[in-house]
Amino acid sequence: MKLMCIHAHFDDFEFVAAGTFDRIIGQNSGGAQTKLVVCTDGAVGHHFRSLEETRAMRWKEQQSASQIGGHEVERLRLPDGTLRREANPVVDRAFVAALWKTIRAFEPDYLFCPPLAQDPLAGVHMDHIAVAEAVRNVAYMINVPHAYIDLYPSPDVESMPCKVPVILNTYDAYMAGANPYDFVVNVEAAFETICEMAWCHQSQIREWLPWVGRHQMSVPESFEEWKQVMRERFDRQNQELGLPAGIAAEPFMVTSWGEVPTTDRLLADFPGIMAEFSNMENLNRRLATLGLGAS
Ligand SMILES: [Zn+2]
Repeated sequence: MKLMCIHAHFDDFEFVAAGTFDRIIGQNSGGAQTKLVVCTDGAVGHHFRSLEETRAMRWKEQQSASQIGGHEVERLRLPDGTLRREANPVVDRAFVAALWKTIRAFEPDYLFCPPLAQDPLAGVHMDHIAVAEAVRNVAYMINVPHAYIDLYPSPDVESMPCKVPVILNTYDAYMAGANPYDFVVNVEAAFETICEMAWCHQSQIREWLPWVGRHQMSVPESFEEWKQVMRERFDRQNQELGLPAGIAAEPFMVTSWGEVPTTDRLLADFPGIMAEFSNMENLNRRLATLGLGAS
């Protein structure tokens, strides 16, 4: 089983899919191969540190967090070798090509990325939207071997087929109040690991996020306090989604951007799907229709 999460910023993964990755690794006796891809360089998200310092710090923090979770991590490099800056809504050919290259190299079974806003009144973070749009755009191209041959020259004339993943959208806190979901994974068993991973992002959770606002975050002084902040965060999210308090849960939407799964496959691959809060019957009907589309 191979899982890949593509997201905009350092720390995004920890807040949307870290628990599910942990549970899937635990379910597979041979483990699971997991990879995190961060699409921005992290340099501008701070109020008193220099760009250089912030860029280096964020990368170091992400590496520590990924190590705790047992995940490989990479910063998405554009074809010219540079990293993408933040506050960048542009989905250009270079961005899509870089995703194409990195997804093809890993061949995930499941790819997780942020959602596109379905409600025009919902707030968004432009970097999250750009990643969502880029993943949607690249999806069909994943199995088109020469799509970006001009940017990534290859001597191979004959190409092997490349697996196209099932692409799932994660929850997005910037769209609070406008997050639909198909199924919810109970990640309470991974709560401690999620907190430990997120705690690695010190320059964010103790400096930047409380300062920038809109996160309803106090500054945690210890790991115990941080766990409390995380519990409150999950409870707020659950309240929004109509889930009970006191359970860490991660909701997902199933797209037809890539391969369309069956609900049976999802139920087998995702431990801890909360049946009472997941509409598998509706999802089943929707996936059956989506599966009829062009392939
Ligand atoms: Zn983010």
